[in-house]
Amino acid sequence: MTMKPLRPITLDDLRGQPGLSRAASDALVAQQPRTVMQALVMHGVGRKTTRRLLALGLLTDPEGVQTRPMTLEELRATRREAEASKVKLSGGRDRSGPPDQQIRCANCGQSTPGYEIVSYGSMESGYRQVCNRCLNAEMAKTLGLEGFEHVKFEPVGLPDCTGELHEFHFRTNLFGARVAIDAFELRDGDPTGYQFQIIGDPEDDLLVLFGQLMQKMRRGLATKHLVDGQHGLQIADDMIVRGKIECDLDHDGRVPMLIIDGREITWDELGRMLMTYEGWQFKLVVADKSEEL
Ligand SMILES: [Zn+2]
Repeated sequence: MTMKPLRPITLDDLRGQPGLSRAASDALVAQQPRTVMQALVMHGVGRKTTRRLLALGLLTDPEGVQTRPMTLEELRATRREAEASKVKLSGGRDRSGPPDQQIRCANCGQSTPGYEIVSYGSMESGYRQVCNRCLNAEMAKTLGLEGFEHVKFEPVGLPDCTGELHEFHFRTNLFGARVAIDAFELRDGDPTGYQFQIIGDPEDDLLVLFGQLMQKMRRGLATKHLVDGQHGLQIADDMIVRGKIECDLDHDGRVPMLIIDGREITWDELGRMLMTYEGWQFKLVVADKSEEL
């Protein structure tokens, strides 16, 4: 059994690798992961790439994760290990900010991640920062929804079609007579990346709704709309792009920042990709976050 990789990874080893961005190639060369597991937790590195590097003898796979899904525990342990040894996992972005900032709920006193805290109140009575669970309970009482029971869903790791693992967090929101479950990835404690939502009846079994959300997430992760080609990022052969419209703060919110395949794509970049089809037609459909396009 080989315990050490043969030699360092070079850009030549990665050239022409389908689905691997230039940023991810650069990150592999800069960070030199030694095992398949260390490579897979890097942003934009999938199993096709690790298979190639494994075949070249540039990675080893002592945990045997090339041929089986990585568990969430493994994913986390590897990330912790990498953070402890000051290895930057994500290409480009600065991750030095406090991860998962916790805020104490003004109602129940529980330490809660920032994305589950809502400012609740009015101009007259003032605002309090309360957790989602407390807010949902309050809302259910007001609406007389006796059958509603808040459920806290634990994070889940799901692979996309290139084998890259995504860690999803969940938030349950009661609004009016409907309940929404949101699934999202986190960066520096903020929801980002792949995002999915399902809406249902608050007095139905939330676990059933959660199951439907998971199916929707699997469907969403099964397709890539953009591919890394010779001339950078391009629209894939299906010629359909689905994504989420967010706000580009670098342009004061005047143009959108799009989330496609779980990654941020600027308005300008999408425009550049469309120029491949100069003279063709297109159709733009806008739909609610909970709808499936
Ligand atoms: Zn609370």
